Amino acid sequence: MASEHLSAAKQRMIDQHLRARGISDERVLAAMQRVPREDFVPEALRPHAYDDRALPVKLGQTISQPYTVAFMAQAAQFSRDERVLEIGTGTGYGTAVLACLAAEVFTVERWPKLSDTATHRLERFGFRNVVTKLGDGSLGWAEQSPFDAIVVTAAAEQLPTAFFDQLAERGRIIIPIGVPGTGQTMFRFTRQSGKLREESLGMFSFVPLVCDS
Ligand code: SAH
Repeated sequence: MASEHLSAAKQRMIDQHLRARGISDERVLAAMQRVPREDFVPEALRPHAYDDRALPVKLGQTISQPYTVAFMAQAAQFSRDERVLEIGTGTGYGTAVLACLAAEVFTVERWPKLSDTATHRLERFGFRNVVTKLGDGSLGWAEQSPFDAIVVTAAAEQLPTAFFDQLAERGRIIIPIGVPGTGQTMFRFTRQSGKLREESLGMFSFVPLVCDS
């Protein structure tokens, strides 16, 4: 598909799927504008890069729906100097969006092939504030903690305790929680005086967070 078609499709995504559905943070919208989703999807799906839906990638995983990526980024309420942990690198698309919004992004993926591809892609696009790691993200990344935000892009059945331990005061965790196969509720947990304040932000659908350890 010619690049002018893709840029028109991207503009429609921003206006009709993001702004119209409540994404109002201009920094988040600028990040969604900047990151070329067509370069994160399999070649055959490039024409669909700006459809507002998750698309299949390798190993039975998905690239997240643009609205969901923008929603989670907005919910995390980043300021530019913050350090973020992302669980579930996948294609690296969400990672790239976070990298436009925060100072440093640490991202963990359990599939070597996905982690390698995303790492090379993010390097190629010049995202120098991203550090990738292969492993079980349900353990967080203790060596790099504390984090100002933790963004989890796979569905957990409950909040992993490591995330609380690795969260800075006033830090936020954005995480879908629920049983696989059914929808999940997106939660924002905010750390205040050593406790977590919980807010429920609506229903979403994610692939499961698989705990290997
Ligand atoms: N945001 C990604 C898509 C994420 S799909 C994108 O836009 O491309 C969820 C990802 O979480 C998958 O790649 C899956 O392999 C990964 N995942 C699932 N359980 C995990 C775990 N315990 N640790 C790290 N990654 C995990």
